[in-house]
Amino acid sequence: MKITFLGTGTSQGVPPIGCESAVCLSDNPKDKRLRSSIWVEWEGKSIVVDAGPDFRYQLIRAGINSLDALLFTHEHKDHTAGLDDIRPFNYLQNGHVQVYCSQRVHTAFQSHYDYIFAEHPYPGIPLIDFHIIENGQFHAADLPITAVEVMHYKLPVHGFVFDKFAYITDANFIDEEQKKHLYDKDVLVLNALRKEKHISHFTLSEAVELATELRAKKVFFTHMSHQIGFHDEVNEQLPSHMQLAYDGLTIDL
Ligand SMILES: [Zn+2]
Ligand SMILES: [Zn+2]
Repeated sequence: MKITFLGTGTSQGVPPIGCESAVCLSDNPKDKRLRSSIWVEWEGKSIVVDAGPDFRYQLIRAGINSLDALLFTHEHKDHTAGLDDIRPFNYLQNGHVQVYCSQRVHTAFQSHYDYIFAEHPYPGIPLIDFHIIENGQFHAADLPITAVEVMHYKLPVHGFVFDKFAYITDANFIDEEQKKHLYDKDVLVLNALRKEKHISHFTLSEAVELATELRAKKVFFTHMSHQIGFHDEVNEQLPSHMQLAYDGLTIDL
């Protein structure tokens, strides 16, 4: 399995438009973050989690030219605004794109992307087969994946477990029952927005504490704001098996 971080930034990206903070003015490419998304290559299949506003550029940048499944964690626009850009795969693969999401996310798509669901659709719209997922195991691209329910303030969000790899974005609480899916992973990704408390995201210290409890062998943090600080400085302060991710980081496992 190979994991590629397509984006590791919070909802406005880093830098947000017009921001002149020291981190946003940094020359280090690791301090530039597109919206959070990952690419999972597993058993010859290509799976992407979330399609935010940077989706098109992220896929071109990573050289992704096949897509067997597109999974959505939740309906917030920083994770869904790129849905229309799946259209090239309709041509490249001569068929519908396979999308996996909860019933609630599907309902949101019906209003956010009403034209995709039109009775007499305009030619050239995205062609999608929607698969509704619930908490627990499902199959996408013939591979077993587990949807874990995590809480993003009051909104349930799906994290995904791919065998020994788990990906959690946009959460600040996971109950004991759901945590059972997340112990002893080879690689665990958790969101860590910044150091200060936030209403709907783990802080860096909360994420470190949870990752320690879950006994992950290797941990990467994602969905970061510029307020987290400089990538290199923060990583020096973290234990070597727990590091901030960055756009373009790949992991083989
Ligand atoms: Zn988000
Ligand atoms: Zn969100």
